[in-house]
Amino acid sequence: MYPDLKLFIAGEWRSAAHDMPVVNPATEEVLGHLPCAAKSDLDDALAAAEAGFQIWSRTSPRERSDTILRAAALLRERQEEIAQSITLEHGKPLPQARLEVIRGAEFFEWDAGEAMRTYGRVIPAARGHKFSVHHQPIGVVAAFSPWNFPMSQPARKIAGALASGCSIILKAAEETPAGAIHIARAFQDAGLPAGVLNLVFGNPADISGYLIPQDPVRLVAFTGSTIVGRHLTTLASEHMTSVLMELGGHAPVIVCEDTDVQAAAISGAVRKMRNAGQVCTSPTRFFVHDSIFDDFTAAFVARAAGTVVGNGMEAGVDMGPLANERRAPALSALVQDAKAKGATVATGGMRHGDTGYFFQPTVLVDVPQDAQIMQEEPFGPIAVLNRVSSLDEAIRQANSVPYGLAGYAFTNRADYIDRMIDEVEVGNLSINTLEASMPETPFGGVKSSGYGREGGVEGLDNYMTIKHVWHSANIT
Ligand code: NAD
Repeated sequence: MYPDLKLFIAGEWRSAAHDMPVVNPATEEVLGHLPCAAKSDLDDALAAAEAGFQIWSRTSPRERSDTILRAAALLRERQEEIAQSITLEHGKPLPQARLEVIRGAEFFEWDAGEAMRTYGRVIPAARGHKFSVHHQPIGVVAAFSPWNFPMSQPARKIAGALASGCSIILKAAEETPAGAIHIARAFQDAGLPAGVLNLVFGNPADISGYLIPQDPVRLVAFTGSTIVGRHLTTLASEHMTSVLMELGGHAPVIVCEDTDVQAAAISGAVRKMRNAGQVCTSPTRFFVHDSIFDDFTAAFVARAAGTVVGNGMEAGVDMGPLANERRAPALSALVQDAKAKGATVATGGMRHGDTGYFFQPTVLVDVPQDAQIMQEEPFGPIAVLNRVSSLDEAIRQANSVPYGLAGYAFTNRADYIDRMIDEVEVGNLSINTLEASMPETPFGGVKSSGYGREGGVEGLDNYMTIKHVWHSANIT
């Protein structure tokens, strides 16, 4: 059920002298041993990616698109096998892992279509002259994907790179390597030329520190925390290498007085606990109008407390464990800090059980602004419910963090929606839904949440460079 763990370099699977264990976060059992790339492996990956770029950038967009679509079809066919390995290594409930496999395939399918639509343009010019703008693949991409969505996170990066005609060296998350391994296998079976996609694992800082300064690398694409994103951006800037940064969020949810209180509270509690809250768009800071606060809180807390926590392989489980051990103490510290500063813990607040990295679904109420959790993304199953007396106050609170990725609101008032579109500082605003993005919509942040967009017609922009051509009919 769990794949053989290997590096994928120059079209071949390989082991390494050193490896590290991959642990099931629900049972703490070792699932396998992941090879760690040595410098010589990274050198081989760079050489392969350089050669791969020469082939793939000259492959027609239609052929690139066809290869990506063949790989996506294989991922759909292999949905059950992939979903089971994701649940084993990450912990999320199996039905959610199955959806993630399909979402990953959809990212590939969308970008495969976009591969054929990277249009340039013609600019009007004087007679005898032609101005044209061409979009061309940027080069070798060094990409780093995190552990919260083992399949769809690597899918976003690989899809963008391959659809644009770039080659890629991906370092996927060491905690959850199976999703990326299944993707590489699907591309190998779909006939992708060797070297176009390379997959490595190891010490993240050593790999990024070695790859980013290398000449062939023209784009660094990263999803993860703001602190690491800032570090990689600094490193890239020393070499004038472009970056695509999808970083942390701390999503506000503005709940207005005119909304359906029960429906908003229940969808908020369900969505907050999805993926055990380990989602950069997870709804976390709820700013609820005073007049509905008590009803909203009662319904939210009851639904959150009723979340079924357990091993994601078991039927009926709503929420699995945290994906790695280090997150539980980080979450406990945020709860303790909020409590010490005057917040009420309405439910949860602690680890759940003795085995596995489970954390209780947690709701904090009336959390003071100076509590750490009001500034720091919990990246776990913790919601903050605070009361506000006006839309002005809600928007001010929503914007009071350095992040600006996703934001949400529940209201049907056109004047409120109009103001929020103009004033809430996020890259993705959703009204009356807690879904933040689809393959066909652009996704990304403002402020410390990063640069660039994935998905939508904008999704390939970072992977391409623009060349202007001035063609004169005569030598002038
Ligand atoms: P972390 O900051 O140590 O790592 C975050 C991710 O970056 C991991 O996948 C890690 O392997 C990678 N990473 C770390 N250092 C790196 C380096 N020098 N070079 C390349 N990659 C590196 O934090 P963590 O404990 O793994 O996760 C917790 C925090 O990470 C959360 O609070 C959240 O903000 C962030 N995170 C965000 C996303 C997202 O989807 N935006 C996903 C996972 C984690």
